[in-house]
Amino acid sequence: SVPTVKPSHWPKYVRVNTLKATLSEAVASAKEKFGEPNVAVHQVVDNVLVLPCTVNNLYEWDMVERGEVVIQDLSSCLTAVALGGGNGSRWWDSGPAKKKGKKGKDKSGVVMLDACAAPGNKTTHLAAIVNEGCEVQNRVVALDRASERIKILQKRVKLLGGDSGVVEPRHQDFLKVDSGDKDLKNLRAILLDPSCSGSGIVNSPDRVDSSDSAERLRSLASFQLLALVHSMSFPQVDYIAYSTCSVNVEEDEAVVAKALAEGNAKLEGGERWRLVAPASLRGWKRRGVAVEGLTAEQAECLCRSDPFDGDLTNGFFVGYFERVKVAGEGKR
Ligand code: SAM
Repeated sequence: SVPTVKPSHWPKYVRVNTLKATLSEAVASAKEKFGEPNVAVHQVVDNVLVLPCTVNNLYEWDMVERGEVVIQDLSSCLTAVALGGGNGSRWWDSGPAKKKGKKGKDKSGVVMLDACAAPGNKTTHLAAIVNEGCEVQNRVVALDRASERIKILQKRVKLLGGDSGVVEPRHQDFLKVDSGDKDLKNLRAILLDPSCSGSGIVNSPDRVDSSDSAERLRSLASFQLLALVHSMSFPQVDYIAYSTCSVNVEEDEAVVAKALAEGNAKLEGGERWRLVAPASLRGWKRRGVAVEGLTAEQAECLCRSDPFDGDLTNGFFVGYFERVKVAGEGKR
């Protein structure tokens, strides 16, 4: 497929890294560098600036050099925003899940796991969201099983200000991590952005040829499902965001539908995972599609982007899940 609008004609997107700068500082600096009329704040996705496609010198902007602003496609900002603001409250302020018999608020910060983290754009984005205006430090444990990629993540985290304990990089296979891991006792949320076909990426020189064989797609989807069901098996986790930069239903809605069935079949005690439309992405127009095992109402909870149908950003998919006590699907 060919994007309806050439990527070279898309706006340029940058994310303000609130670990190091504020939105107003970035807006002021962008206006000075690129001209006042050329700078807009994205209407739906917090802390994203939109600049004209004609801006070509982003890498020369001192805020980019210092890691205060990150060149990141709009679509790739959706996952951390969904996880951070999905339930409409700063849930991490309430601390780790209550231990039996303990009263009052736990003052230790919460832990989130970025299960497939490198090179770390979403890790640092999540760390920024959950540490904005906080009294305690909330940590993101960032896993990747590829040692070379963990090194890239470490460099990135250093530049973006996540190296002061806010982000903890770990070279590890997520499928081998278990819920009893002592570093994860305050875990509340998992961001899962696993390897995918990349069929939505159209503006990168590293673009993967999306004419993937059916066999490759099957193998990717089976890993994605395994990883999502594994995420659902951590009893201390209440929130999960699952994303891909693929536009293939097999890697997106179909994985979500199967994971809900498998993950919920393993839950006991009247608990279940359900899809929720992220409150932080209420204004996002393009939604998921209904597939076998997913109702139209559930599909409406999912967010998509599609460059082959007019969206001026790469193709992307995100689903946000919450653990609930009572049954009921498709809250919107
Ligand atoms: N979330 C990243 C970001 O926004 O910068 C991009 C992640 S990339 C799509 C997927 C990553 O998952 C790769 O770096 C890959 O090495 C890692 N990965 C694949 N299987 C894994 C596993 N079983 N455990 C941990 N990491 C894994």
